[in-house]
Amino acid sequence: MHIVVLSGGVGGSRFIRGLLAATTPDDRVTVVANTADDIWLFGLRVCPDLDTVMYTLGDGIDTERGWGRTDETWNAKSELGAYGVPEAWFGLGDRDLATHLVRTEMLRAGDGLTAATDRLCARWSPDTDLERIRLLPMTEDEVETWISTTVDGSPTDIHFQEFWIRHHAGVPVHGVTQRGIEAATPAPGVLEAIADADVVVLPPSNPIVSVGPILAVPGIRDALRDAAAPVVGVSPIIGGGAVRGMADQLLAGLGIENSAAAVGLLHGARSADGVLDGWLVDTADADLLPRLEDGGVTARAVPLWMTDDATTRQLAADALALAAELARG
Ligand code: GDP
Ligand code: CA
Repeated sequence: MHIVVLSGGVGGSRFIRGLLAATTPDDRVTVVANTADDIWLFGLRVCPDLDTVMYTLGDGIDTERGWGRTDETWNAKSELGAYGVPEAWFGLGDRDLATHLVRTEMLRAGDGLTAATDRLCARWSPDTDLERIRLLPMTEDEVETWISTTVDGSPTDIHFQEFWIRHHAGVPVHGVTQRGIEAATPAPGVLEAIADADVVVLPPSNPIVSVGPILAVPGIRDALRDAAAPVVGVSPIIGGGAVRGMADQLLAGLGIENSAAAVGLLHGARSADGVLDGWLVDTADADLLPRLEDGGVTARAVPLWMTDDATTRQLAADALALAAELARG
């Protein structure tokens, strides 16, 4: 079986861990990661979601924090702060820095982000879960999520990283744009993977700034709509609150109801111009099933909390079971 996962960072990579536990080494997994979180900082290309997937599956992640490297130190960051560098708010660890140096060096030498990602993953792959997946950026073109907001009483546009890390999502959201998205093309292998897939999964990643940008890369939405495989998703919203992260603030700012049904219907049914065949909501949200079914999405209520390895594995198995049911139907 070939499974394609369209992933953000923390929510996506946890789910992928469960997916690998729920499948066998004969199953192939292609992860298409969001790159709209990417940012140029200090001359370096930083790709937070690609790195979160790589570190998580490569066993290099700091599991407490959920992002960045284990055994991290922050000397470079504190030196930058001492120089009064304005971007010193970004959580750039010393170990993490090496990843960005290797990547940027390759990009400057003319390699694409796909080749740079392959090179970085090669270090982490042996004897880890990363060995079992192919990690692709959604695009090699530069796409960046920007947030229209108000800071200190003045309307302004800030990079998503500044919104999230500097302001802790504590400033209002008036709008969200993906700069560069119109001109972006899917990275090599992305459309081929979707066309070849037996199952496509939208993991419980942020709908606005993780899954949204992937679906907005011209060509990817059409590829999903044309895919022979069932497309199933897992709600990142449980009981009307984002589980962790800033989905509530973004949804509220865009006037979208903060519920598993609204997010499922935002992605939409494949039968109605959307991309989904199936959608999993939490058992606490079982009352939302009729709304989703009315919208043409086959929905099931199962436990969605990825609290430990066993529950996360079961969630992935439930997503695959729904896909199998849809493939037969
Ligand atoms: P990011 O790029 O690091 O923000 O990670 P993702 O976009 O992949 O995932 C973030 C989303 O994961 C958050 O908006 C949460 O709603 C969701 N999430 C985190 N933990 C869980 C969980 O245990 N269960 C579910 N269903 N969603 C979760
Ligand atoms: Ca992200």
